[in-house]
Amino acid sequence: AKTFEVEKIRKDFPILNREVNGYPLVYFDNAATAQTPTQVMDVIVDYYSNYNANIHRGVHSLSQEATDKYEQARIKIQKHFNAEKSHEIIFTSGTTHGINLVANGFSSILKKGDEILVSAMEHHSNIVPWQMLCERTGAELKVIPMNDKGELIYAEFEKLVNSNTKLVFLNHVSNALGTVNPIKKIIQKAHENGAAVLIDGAQAAPHIKADVQELDVDFYVVSAHKMCGPTGVGVLYGKEEWLEKLPPYQGGGEMIATVSFEKTTYAGLPHKFEAGTPNICGGIAFGAAIDYMNNIGFEIIANYEHELLEYATAKLKEIEGMKIYGEASEKTAVISFNIEGLHPYDIGTLLDKMGIAVRTGHHCAQPVMDFFKIPGTVRASFSFYNTYQEIDRFIEAVKKAKMMLQ
Ligand code: PMP
Repeated sequence: AKTFEVEKIRKDFPILNREVNGYPLVYFDNAATAQTPTQVMDVIVDYYSNYNANIHRGVHSLSQEATDKYEQARIKIQKHFNAEKSHEIIFTSGTTHGINLVANGFSSILKKGDEILVSAMEHHSNIVPWQMLCERTGAELKVIPMNDKGELIYAEFEKLVNSNTKLVFLNHVSNALGTVNPIKKIIQKAHENGAAVLIDGAQAAPHIKADVQELDVDFYVVSAHKMCGPTGVGVLYGKEEWLEKLPPYQGGGEMIATVSFEKTTYAGLPHKFEAGTPNICGGIAFGAAIDYMNNIGFEIIANYEHELLEYATAKLKEIEGMKIYGEASEKTAVISFNIEGLHPYDIGTLLDKMGIAVRTGHHCAQPVMDFFKIPGTVRASFSFYNTYQEIDRFIEAVKKAKMMLQ
């Protein structure tokens, strides 16, 4: 079995050596964006140094090389998520783009009286596109509630889902709470009722290797930047039958078969959904990031991060006035908290002064904050390159911030 050598891994991430406000950086904002290893940066430099060219339409060598590398990345991503076919992997600019692409496609399928179920712990990017879809189609949005621990109430979902339900949307892992949702069970039940399911995998993908065939999920969306890849690129996995059924999202070059002013015909999958010049380098780098993470191993990553989570949770709970939001039985390495009487923004600002990067605010999940009747939280989220020593520094800094603010 592989052993986990965090100090060796940290050497791959030059940014972890920098100082912030005179202190060595402690980066605990991984749920927002993960850091990039040199192995991925090298791929980016290699692309721009050696074969930067537009893809899919050039006869010259550079264009063919870039096309090959881009399509190889698609296949890497296909294999990683175990999609049956490579054209079921659509490159996007990220999770938000993937969700909007599907929501737009359902405009021509849904009608008045149809129902859409969404979970109570969604990111705004998995709420707003569905609200816009409901406005366009007259379909109704219903919410699967959660309990005080930040877990979805499955029994309530069972009550809500019926033959009018056409779509179910939820995240695999909540970005605000870290809750891992029982998506397999939900997908099965939704399918029994004839509904399609889109899973927002943005927060799950850095920790859990999802198998889209095993899950039998209809759509699964992710962003590269949460998985050690660059920003502005991601993928939408869609079952072939669904992708065939949905109309194109954007019109433009690359997505057509023939164009005339009388009639245009669309290209086949995946190009039908990939209008315009894509983020070529980003897609190739995303493939490299997935290789990098698989070389370490997702199980090893998840186990180590879980140890960090347990260690930090226990230490935080020793602090008086500490309230942690989201204590689901299964969660990723995300801790959302407040200290009684203190504003999360003030804590976050003082932590930054001590070189520690955390997130404060509503985390693009205002309904979650409303549920707990708070304006926001401090969120610390760990990655496999974080250490116990960093957590110790963080705990000391939280205590110091508390002293200074009280
Ligand atoms: N869904 C979830 C659960 C997220 O955490 C995020 C990123 N914070 C998104 C969607 C949106 O991802 P992106 O901004 O990369 O499109």
